Amino acid sequence: MIYELTEEDMERLLQKIAEEYDVFGSKEELGEVVFSKISSFSEVSEKKSSYSPKDFLIKRSENILEIPRAEKKAVIGVKSCDLRGFYLMDLQILNKDPFYTVRRQNTLFINFVCTEMCPGGFCTSFGGPVLDDYDIQVLHIGQSYFVEADPRYERYLAGFRPASDQDVFVKHSKEFNRKYGKIELNGIEKRMKWSSKLWTEFANYCISCGACNYSCPTCYCIDVYDDETGRKKEWDSCILEGFTKTAAGNVRPDLSDRLRQRFYHKFKYYKLSKGEYLCTGCNRCVDDCPVDIDIKEVITHDYDKE
Ligand code: SF4
Ligand code: SF4
Repeated sequence: MIYELTEEDMERLLQKIAEEYDVFGSKEELGEVVFSKISSFSEVSEKKSSYSPKDFLIKRSENILEIPRAEKKAVIGVKSCDLRGFYLMDLQILNKDPFYTVRRQNTLFINFVCTEMCPGGFCTSFGGPVLDDYDIQVLHIGQSYFVEADPRYERYLAGFRPASDQDVFVKHSKEFNRKYGKIELNGIEKRMKWSSKLWTEFANYCISCGACNYSCPTCYCIDVYDDETGRKKEWDSCILEGFTKTAAGNVRPDLSDRLRQRFYHKFKYYKLSKGEYLCTGCNRCVDDCPVDIDIKEVITHDYDKE
């Protein structure tokens, strides 16, 4: 069932949720859109957050000898592309990483469906901003907030007005995808070439900062190490030289190999092992790359001509 809420209704919805959860929202602070605690719907910004919300589930750094705690959090204002990243990560780490799992099971995400494509975004290549999997999904058109909930959260919508148009999400999805078109993936998992010159070209200007991995809502790799305060895990990056360094040496000492690995993981290995590309088209890795390396080039490159 899809409901049609006013702004005042959204406030009531948020207050209902706040009875059970600590509520966080995307909020403008010092020129950036960040997630922080909110007490009113009026604080929520519908702009894409400056950073992906993945640290609600995977902390940048934490002690893994401590038992993960179940904290009930609701996060409102997540964009669909970022939320889809969690569904993709679930395929690999849900029920394997206990920290991720306990947070995933105790966090309610309320995603906003975009009405315009963000600069550089290519979510239409992966289905567009209307998701099939969500907790509570919101589409804001004019004065109306169209809201649908997974059966686990339907109780929060009891008492609100059912929308007269129950196809509003389907229609929006078709219209959005038609308006913006898509970059065809064209079986990228089969087209990419191991010996492509693209990897060495990228390596000529990549500065190995790791920002593309840190900003990505689908990158979940971690490093584990000991220090004086305990055994830690922290975000890692397959682009960094130390990522594959072992006592026996480094299996990917060349930057071009590490760049290729990143794209092969996203567009070939994950697709073959999980049935999905490990990318949502959010463009965060491009936005944050200091030398403008664009993952879309990997998709559009003509490997047959090499
Ligand atoms: S566009 Fe880049 S940051 Fe976004 S999901 Fe794909 S690889 Fe990750
Ligand atoms: S963000 Fe750009 S420069 Fe930094 S590691 Fe990724 S591709 Fe290289």
